[in-house]
Amino acid sequence: MRSLLLWCAQNQWLAAHVPRWRFARRAVRRFLPGEGFEAALKSAVDFKAKGVGALFTLLGENVTDLADANRVVEHYEEVLAASADVQAEVSVKPTQLGLDIDQEAAYANLRRLARAAANARSFLWVDMEGSAYTERTLDLYKSLRAEHLHVGVALQAYLHRTVSDVTSLLPLKPAIRLVKGAYAESPQVAFTAKREVDENYLALCGLMLPEVKRRNLRLVLATHDTTLIAKAWRFAQALAIERPHFEVAMLYGIRTGEQLRLAREGFTVKDLIAYGDAWYAWYLRRLAERPANVWFVARQLLP
Ligand SMILES: Cc1cc2nc3c(=O)[nH]c(=O)nc-3n(C[C@H](O)[C@H](O)[C@H](O)COP(=O)(O)OP(=O)(O)OC[C@H]3O[C@@H](n4cnc5c(N)ncnc54)[C@H](O)[C@@H]3O)c2cc1C
Repeated sequence: MRSLLLWCAQNQWLAAHVPRWRFARRAVRRFLPGEGFEAALKSAVDFKAKGVGALFTLLGENVTDLADANRVVEHYEEVLAASADVQAEVSVKPTQLGLDIDQEAAYANLRRLARAAANARSFLWVDMEGSAYTERTLDLYKSLRAEHLHVGVALQAYLHRTVSDVTSLLPLKPAIRLVKGAYAESPQVAFTAKREVDENYLALCGLMLPEVKRRNLRLVLATHDTTLIAKAWRFAQALAIERPHFEVAMLYGIRTGEQLRLAREGFTVKDLIAYGDAWYAWYLRRLAERPANVWFVARQLLP
């Protein structure tokens, strides 16, 4: 089921047609407060009142025209200026900034966003996409980190290479958002069994948490896996890491109760709020993460 859903995520015909189907638009609302930025901002205000921070992401990927990438940058510049009150951070995909067209142009766009984030006292995260982009994304991040403090990158625990990527990033005093990984990858590059991915996730926490203690690294555990979070927290406690320095991020609409509980207990928690009309591929990856979600979609077909 996971492979089928991830195949559908890349199918051009489905990408062009599914977003027009009303039941699909109804189903996607479970993971999006709305398509417009205003709905995302309103959710961020609500979350802030409950002690949960926000991470905004405008949906869209693999842009084929640099003018579209420029519009994405302009949009985020406005978002960063408009969301100072909620102190939200932003997260962006390199292929949404033109990486498929021209790496230099994508880098220029990232620099503009890093400057805008610094001016707004915010933080810019670089998402990690499929493994065909890993090397280039890390090159972009390393150059960006050499110029800017408030920038971070996502790393995927399912990739075999991630442990060596962490080692090469640590001297830069990076910010790393550790995720399990959401794309269809071959066994040549990625662990495919959930147990192996989870073990690698914990091993990577073991490698990185001591650097959090030494203040050489900002680490965000971006997962809804509360068992893994609890295990990582036990290790963090052994290192005497304080709760505000133990950061967790989850997606809007998933395990909201756990997000609120962790925030109440004093951990730093962020809710990633996605918005925009280019939700098709992103939404299919959410279904692939938990195929039981497909029944939720099917129920939307009922009157
Ligand atoms: C803040 C954030 C940023 C992310 N950024 C990236 C990125 O840049 N690149 C990337 O490849 N991936 C990214 N991801 C996605 C990530 O790689 C996983 O695909 C996703 O988080 C599901 O894995 P999990 O860690 O929650 O663990 P899982 O083992 O998949 O899930 C643990 C439990 O969480 C619940 N759950 C998980 N997913 C869902 C869902 N879709 N619907 C309902 N319940 C669910 C279930 O109860 C499940 O048992 C991000 C995730 C988060 C939270």
